Amino acid sequence: MSEIQRAQKVMEQHKGHWEDDIVKVIFDSLEKQVPKKILDIDNRNACPHCRKKLPNIVFENLSCCSHCGQKLDWSEPNE
Ligand SMILES: [Zn+2]
Repeated sequence: MSEIQRAQKVMEQHKGHWEDDIVKVIFDSLEKQVPKKILDIDNRNACPHCRKKLPNIVFENLSCCSHCGQKLDWSEPNE
């Protein structure tokens, strides 16, 4: 289990003690630290978190979304 998964588990367990808004913000920021595979929307690369279009640049892959900061996994885009 990664640090992030552990943190998410702790958050989950203590959910009731904190404001929903705070839980959501922390969850979101934790999730963005876990690289997610990029999406293909209308034949354009898109962020798996905010679904905004990303530049189709292969030579310099973005490590995270320029819109929301989601970490990106560019491996096997056609899986
Ligand atoms: Zn994004």
